[in-house]
Amino acid sequence: MAHELPPGATGVITINLDAVAANWRALAALVAPAECGAVVKANAYGLGAAEIVPALARAGCRTFFVATPEEGRAARLLLPEARLFALDGLFPGAAPLLLAADVTPVLSSLAEVEDWAGEAARLGRPLPAALQIDSGLNRLGLAAPEIEALAARPALLAALDLRLVMSHLASADDPADPHNEAQRTAFDRGRALLPAAPASLAASDGLMLGPGYHYDLVRPGYALYGGQAFRGGPTPVSPVVTVRARVLQVRTLETGASVGYSAAWRAQRPTRLAVIAAGYGDGLARALSAPTGAPGAMVMVAGQRAPIVGRVSMDLITVDVTDVAGEIRRGDLATLIGPGLTIEAMGAAAGTIGYEVLTRLGPRFVRQHTRGGFRA
Ligand SMILES: *Cc1c(COP(=O)(O)O)cnc(C)c1O
Repeated sequence: MAHELPPGATGVITINLDAVAANWRALAALVAPAECGAVVKANAYGLGAAEIVPALARAGCRTFFVATPEEGRAARLLLPEARLFALDGLFPGAAPLLLAADVTPVLSSLAEVEDWAGEAARLGRPLPAALQIDSGLNRLGLAAPEIEALAARPALLAALDLRLVMSHLASADDPADPHNEAQRTAFDRGRALLPAAPASLAASDGLMLGPGYHYDLVRPGYALYGGQAFRGGPTPVSPVVTVRARVLQVRTLETGASVGYSAAWRAQRPTRLAVIAAGYGDGLARALSAPTGAPGAMVMVAGQRAPIVGRVSMDLITVDVTDVAGEIRRGDLATLIGPGLTIEAMGAAAGTIGYEVLTRLGPRFVRQHTRGGFRA
């Protein structure tokens, strides 16, 4: 297996582009006749926008969301035709960048609307825009009084070529949470004050809440990458990512020997230990550290589950492979995320969520994009 890895690299993230495309198609089928977009911010959740964005476009995706103007500029180079929205909106001074790349800002405050209208006046034409309504997340978006103020300024609205009105759900992962319905109602109330435009409310979890949440366009990100955050049942998507890292050496320890910084873990029996080339410098949370007696997060060595023991250090983890049958060779690849080792399990073990696990995977991992069984 190690031959797949450049000799200087510590580990490899394998991203199956066909699985990403299949996930997008499955979600698109689920929400039809609503349109299914794709959220590719943060380098497509850390997995490589340069490869994932064209794969989604080939699958049929026509509407993409990034966070920042710079991400929009980079995405435009990959997508000459698609609609591109920047979720973080109009940064001060970023209008020329957005216009040059034909990236539509999601305007989330009156100040942003005024700035964008100023650009429209300068250019003598309405400018494409999305408007974000705050429906209860209190993060980005126009609050009710701001929507009313905007509705009372027709000249400001006339400066916008309104392409989308959107909002974002706070608790969509929990279908029983009454926030969902309350936010949907607030969204409808806000939309009614604005000129008619296509609407979007749901991301990966929201689209699982049913057709009442689909509107004209859904905006999944995490689910495209195989993420399963919805607590109401499985989203119809498959895993996309495996993360593997080299075994650097295997050591044997006597009972009582300690492992790693602060001697946090002590062998309770004669122990076989695998030292693996990935640590918090690669995005493996230091919270995965397992002192003596604590159940360590599982990884897979020689195809068998084995727990992390001791402190996670910057470049290394140590794994108790005493119960792993068979030979473990220097250079073998241990699996950190893959079949039986979900992104969510890794997140839960680290006290975080799969989203953070994915987006933290560091640059020392080589990213290999595959199609079908083959390297892209
Ligand atoms: C990140 C984001 C999304 C995508 O969310 P997922 O849970 O990854 O599907 C959609 N909309 C907004 C506003 C976002 O910030």
